[in-house]
Amino acid sequence: MSQTNVMVKEIPVNPFYRKMSVYLYYIDGLLIDTGPKINRYSLIPFFKSIKPKQVALTHHHTDHVGMVPWLAFYQQSTIYCHPNMMSLITKDINHSWYKKVFKQEQKSLIKAYPKVINTSNFTFQPIETLGHTYDHVCLYEQNEGWLFTGDLYVTPHPKVSLQGESITEYIDAIESLLQLNFTKVFCGHQGAVNHGREMLKEKLNYLKETKFKVKQLHDLGYSDQEIVKELFPGRVNLEIFTFGSFSRINFVRSCYQERV
Ligand SMILES: [Zn+2]
Repeated sequence: MSQTNVMVKEIPVNPFYRKMSVYLYYIDGLLIDTGPKINRYSLIPFFKSIKPKQVALTHHHTDHVGMVPWLAFYQQSTIYCHPNMMSLITKDINHSWYKKVFKQEQKSLIKAYPKVINTSNFTFQPIETLGHTYDHVCLYEQNEGWLFTGDLYVTPHPKVSLQGESITEYIDAIESLLQLNFTKVFCGHQGAVNHGREMLKEKLNYLKETKFKVKQLHDLGYSDQEIVKELFPGRVNLEIFTFGSFSRINFVRSCYQERV
């Protein structure tokens, strides 16, 4: 079977910042990620049309899991997540208005990822790939050579990070993925990535080189601000638009600190 079996749903992360999209994927009854709650009026008709039997979550960020409570109450699905995000997801569902105000009964089951997820025609292997978050998972379909990478790829040359990201974990995760025989990469914010395998290699090399340069300066006694000035002097739009949630300082720290 070919890539045409993958249905791609693109949706803005935020209606007020339409430059950045999140991509959901639907294949043979399996939905990968659910999109942000703020776009529920576009997403609910989509979910009603596909009626996903299974849902796979790549990580806990709200642009990926925002619609989990709606799916849990209005669709009969099995929703899979990394064990590290189980309590967060359960809490979101228990505190949702669908339960508290509308007295809905939960229809979906929430489960930790099994070794494989089978659909009628495909087998998906969840692969723990930390770095971006402590609960990040990629999904690999070996026969088709598909790799769904959540937020592990996004860009080959990042200059900003969220607090708590770990470049060491990114490097380990990409190195382990490159052992697999994938040919097609589906990213959570870029859609299908042209030359995905090469682009992941590019990111790996960039992260290794940048981590080395940052550590060198850090060991020489440079402050984080001085390292930013030295290595990333230009303006970074994402840093401005997210009011510093994504920042160059975080990125520098994530090169020499381990996750806390
Ligand atoms: Zn994310």
